[in-house]
Amino acid sequence: MLDQTTGPRVLLKNLREAMAEPLGPQERLNRIVEQIAAAMAAQVCSVYVRRADDVLELFGTYGLKAEAVHQSQLRVGQGLVGTIAATGRPLNLAEAEQHPSFTYLPETGEELYKSFLGVPMQRAGRPLGVLVVQTTDTKVYGDEDVEALETAAMVLSDLVASGELKGLAQKGAELDQSRPISLSGESFSPGIGVGKVVLHEPRVVVENLFGDDEQHELNRLREAVKSVRASVDELLDRNRDQPTNGDSNDHIEVLESYRMFAHDRGWARRIEEAIRQGLTAEAATEKVSQENRSRLLRSPDPYIRERLNDLDDLSRRLLKQLMGNAPTPDKNRQRFVVVARAMGAAELLDYDRKYLRGLIIEEATATSHVVIVARALGIAVVSKVDGFAARAENDDIVIIDGDEGSVHLRPADDLYDSYLERIQFRVKREARYDELRDKPAVSLDGVSVDLLLNAGLTMDLDQLETSGAIGIGLFRTELQFMIASSLPRLDEQTRFYKSVLDAAGDKPVTFRTLDIGGDKVLPYLRTIKEDNPALGWRAIRLAIDRPALLRMQMRALLKAAAGRQLKIKLPMITTVSEIDQVRGILYREITARKKFGHEMPSEILLGSMVEVPSLLYQLDELMGKVDFISVGSNDLFQFMAASDRTNSYLSNRFDPLSRPFLRALRQIVLAAEKHNTPLQLCGELAGNPLSALALVGVGYRAISMPPASIGPIKEMIRSLDMGQVATAVNDAIDNTTGAETLRETLRDFVETNGVILS
Ligand code: PEP
Ligand code: MG
Repeated sequence: MLDQTTGPRVLLKNLREAMAEPLGPQERLNRIVEQIAAAMAAQVCSVYVRRADDVLELFGTYGLKAEAVHQSQLRVGQGLVGTIAATGRPLNLAEAEQHPSFTYLPETGEELYKSFLGVPMQRAGRPLGVLVVQTTDTKVYGDEDVEALETAAMVLSDLVASGELKGLAQKGAELDQSRPISLSGESFSPGIGVGKVVLHEPRVVVENLFGDDEQHELNRLREAVKSVRASVDELLDRNRDQPTNGDSNDHIEVLESYRMFAHDRGWARRIEEAIRQGLTAEAATEKVSQENRSRLLRSPDPYIRERLNDLDDLSRRLLKQLMGNAPTPDKNRQRFVVVARAMGAAELLDYDRKYLRGLIIEEATATSHVVIVARALGIAVVSKVDGFAARAENDDIVIIDGDEGSVHLRPADDLYDSYLERIQFRVKREARYDELRDKPAVSLDGVSVDLLLNAGLTMDLDQLETSGAIGIGLFRTELQFMIASSLPRLDEQTRFYKSVLDAAGDKPVTFRTLDIGGDKVLPYLRTIKEDNPALGWRAIRLAIDRPALLRMQMRALLKAAAGRQLKIKLPMITTVSEIDQVRGILYREITARKKFGHEMPSEILLGSMVEVPSLLYQLDELMGKVDFISVGSNDLFQFMAASDRTNSYLSNRFDPLSRPFLRALRQIVLAAEKHNTPLQLCGELAGNPLSALALVGVGYRAISMPPASIGPIKEMIRSLDMGQVATAVNDAIDNTTGAETLRETLRDFVETNGVILS
């Protein structure tokens, strides 16, 4: 249906001339739409540009009434044009009026027209507007026409992105490039960060659209495709050779499908066709990548849509190859926030943590490895902010608010200032905590509480020094396993545990044996598919059934702690007989090491976590079997309240600071006192000031928490009278007619007694 005397090649040539002519912006736009209408044998061609307020303004038209230019407007999502902008996909309709989204704009005179073809204008993934052609007859444009219009849209996008059209917008309106954007997502790690955006997957912006020498461009493409294919093959071979200790081959399958795309002849052929229309190799690659994007996004199959990431990645590789090494952002600049669509845990560690202020990630869950690592780094993490990466540019200023789960891109001055004030307030608070660092956590009436650290990675160890904790109460050994690409070997484990003990010096460290299964998955270990993984084959259950893993870990711990104290605790103990079984495994390792004359730890202490409610009814037996007890309040509460700790619908439904749960916690304190068994608690409750107040009230004297909580909790304990707290909390727990939750009682106590709670 394209006018063959013009055709895509001639259209591109004409557009190129129109771009080069010394015309004013409106004239240039008018010339361009006229040429597109002619080439597409259409009676109308219109350009709608997206403004800062998410309105699509008619910027130029051939065929519609001239008075409508800069007057007609549609919101993103409104009408056919708004639908194209919202979805990023073309609409090709024989009778526009029949479409449910059709909106009639009387000022344009468009009632004369029947067929409608519209395509999005994008540049490097950023939505900039919509280009439309309309005809008086009912015809359906063919694929070739759609592609030609998409090529024209690329040229127009270039014009918008160049800033040339800025002055044309309606008075007071701004174009899309530099506007502030605030979005809400989900917070996976608290804190506030302000810094410059660093795009984890930097976008390559194609500057050079028009190719002069078709053969030269084809040769460039072929060379680049060859080298990308070779690098993908090499990547696959390298991964295939890597030992995997389980026999899961999932990641190989993913890479194989990636290779399939790289070798797909259709992909390369479509780029070649675009070059033949007159584009450079890089512009042709970008064009085909945009087409793939809108095609795959339409697929109802989530697997296909996921493959979009592979294709995007391949296009990026190809563009890099074609354009030489595009400047990559300096990862280690002053104060920055990483923005990523998706990311592996190890990749985050490549950034300079000294200046890293936050992570905005589109595809992650609270238990994603990268999120666990980010939390360990103490930076704010906000996720589920759809399309954020596409809207941000390197070096844009961004505020990440991990307390509220929001992000503010290119913030207005007043918002920026108010956040700076909040940060300064936090800095002052940090300075107060620094002063407390070497002071003990002792209440006004002289009761001391041990404040310990939850840790799991090497990077946590610095915090032992800086936070003022007296030791590590929970070392989650599984984290090292979760960020590794294959099972850590005996010598690696030994070296790692030794480095932990070296860093701790005289301070005690409690290692917890591997707590995998449930939501903690090791990619290289084959596990079974379970309907209820939290209640499933996990932690100590898995260790008892597959003792080789546990034996290796015990051996590594014994070696690492030679000559020093070794404290080990066991996760998810359900019956006391499990402790006997694990002790058997431990003794075998001890005996073997003794037999060969290896130096032994100076003291070995074996403890049990209390996370499963059945232990509450075996407390006397339990105390007799272990050297210490450690309550895991996260799991204990999830099982007592029968509510999944990872399910956001349930997150605030039941209150751990309520009578039933606090009674259970008190019962454990009483049993430990009766048997003189050392007791600590290490779930998230310990790190929250109001909850920690309840914990010390029921009698906990050792609590373990994330590093950032040590300062606030220490400040709180030093400001209270423990006798008074104990009375208030115990009275409220025993008062069967009082409120079920103790929150109000605790808040009243804080207020009337001047307890410092920040
Ligand atoms: C707990 O359950 O409270 C605990 C500390 O263990 P984790 O959070 O690692 O399951
Ligand atoms: Mg637990």
